[in-house]
Parts: sequence; structure tokens; C-alpha cells
Amino acid sequence: MAKKIIFKIDKKAFSGPFKCHGETKLVKKKISVGENLFSYSIWKCKCGKEYLDTNQAKQMEAIWIFEKMVTDELIGMERSLNHDGKMFFLRFPMELSSHFKKGNKAEIKVVDSKRFLVEIK
Ligand SMILES: [Zn+2]
Repeated sequence: MAKKIIFKIDKKAFSGPFKCHGETKLVKKKISVGENLFSYSIWKCKCGKEYLDTNQAKQMEAIWIFEKMVTDELIGMERSLNHDGKMFFLRFPMELSSHFKKGNKAEIKVVDSKRFLVEIK
């Protein structure tokens, strides 16, 4: 019989400052993606090691997605835009939607008037 191990993760386990060679310090950084300049922050140790807390990791992920969009590195699929007389809609291909569940919501983030990011939640 498998042994059960129960452990708790501290609510602050993924928030800075972190411990490395002493306590990490919050450092502001900038990254340019195309013509856009993004400011972000990281936790940095005196040894040079950098850490991201949960919010910083989400922010970095958003910057990387934007970078992929700008450099056209995202996988694209062309779909017909349908119109029901009132609104436009599109269908997701089965390969992408097989894990969607009833009750899921889609959050649309507007990049500009022709580009959007959709997150299924
Ligand atoms: Zn360190």
C-alpha cells in the first residue's frame, strides 16, 4: 500500500523576498520587445541569482507571449469568422478544444482592434 505524505506549502512560499545568500532584493528591469519597452521586477541575490514570485512570473509569461506575437512565433490557425446576424463568433478546432469543459469561460484580452488573446478558464 502506498504511503500518504501530507505536507503544507506556506502561503508565502512563492512570494519574495527569497532566501539565497541572505535575503534577495527587489530589482527593476526593462526589456524591449519590438518597439515596446516593458518594465518588470525580479528578486535578485548578491550572488547574481534571480528569482520570480508568482505575480512576477505571470508578468514575465505575458511579456514572452507578447514577444512571440510580435515576432510571429505563435502557432496560428485560420478559422472562418461566422456571423449570426448580430454578432461575430468563431469555432475552436477539436484539437484545441477537446479539454474544454462546459462552464469554462473565455477571457478575451485585446491587443489591438484586430489581435486578441483568448484564455480558457
Ligand atoms: Zn545567492
